[in-house]
Amino acid sequence: MGIFALPLDSDIISENQLIETGFADIKLMIKREDLIHPEVPGNKWRKLKYNLVRAREIGEPTLLTFGGAFSNHIAAVAAAGRLYKFSTIGIIRGEELSDKIDGNPTLKFAAECGMKLVFIPRSQYALKESQDFIENLRSRLGKFYLIPEGGTNALAIRGCEEILTDAERGFEYICTAVGTGGTLSGLVNSAGPNQKVLGFPAIKGIWSKSEFLALADRVDQCELLLDYHFGGYGKTTAELIEFINKFYSDYQIKLDPIYTGKMMFGIFDLIAKGYFKPGSSILAIHTGGIQGVNGMNKQLLKKKQPIIEFL
Ligand SMILES: *Cc1c(COP(=O)(O)O)cnc(C)c1O
Repeated sequence: MGIFALPLDSDIISENQLIETGFADIKLMIKREDLIHPEVPGNKWRKLKYNLVRAREIGEPTLLTFGGAFSNHIAAVAAAGRLYKFSTIGIIRGEELSDKIDGNPTLKFAAECGMKLVFIPRSQYALKESQDFIENLRSRLGKFYLIPEGGTNALAIRGCEEILTDAERGFEYICTAVGTGGTLSGLVNSAGPNQKVLGFPAIKGIWSKSEFLALADRVDQCELLLDYHFGGYGKTTAELIEFINKFYSDYQIKLDPIYTGKMMFGIFDLIAKGYFKPGSSILAIHTGGIQGVNGMNKQLLKKKQPIIEFL
């Protein structure tokens, strides 16, 4: 695994796969961004691409970023560092995790990729965007190229504008899971004038589109579906896990419990409720995230809850 690095100077186009929903008048396809790379999959590669290019251009050999203990972004930056020859530093939320690296598949993977893990208390982590905090990191750890938590910045959005291709102009709806909204912004920027982009936030809260789409051009083409967070970020229910397991047995496609499982549950629910008019065609972006399943299963086992069965 991880022996090849995707080129940073040419287009990567992922395959679309038909999903037989059982609703004859709705066409649903899934865009397999999850398959573009085993270690830097989905939107994480899209978001890193132009940041890696920029870091190389300015000759900065070290990438620094932030994340929680199960973060797909941390895993992706660590893997990208190994593949594209950058040193990497991960600032991890939660001091108590510093001696639990071996029991956490994401942190273990990141460490194996050579990422230097720096654990900080949650109270400090909350201040991580402040200038003082960043200056303090620079004096402690040396120079670095900063990638924000979740990886979203203008260069990341530019990368996400490359997910959709002209061949996909015929889809009336483009769907994606939403964390920071970087992926959603890229899709909104690149969608055709008659396409609607639906975002499924994986986070609980009353969100306005402007929070997610600060860097997007055409906000009115986008709608957020706020009822599919399953209790909040990183939270799951038995119903969600069951849906992910059934989806795998029906279509042999793995969904993750933090993002893509929630989005796909939402799409199926909306189809059943008649949200999409007959004859609609929907393209759902599979943004990846499967690296997190192992860690989630460990937590579910501890709580004696049903687990995801495909690993
Ligand atoms: C990070 C991630 C997202 C969220 O992307 P944003 O650009 O932060 O909204 C969605 N899906 C998966 C699988 C992810 O890993």
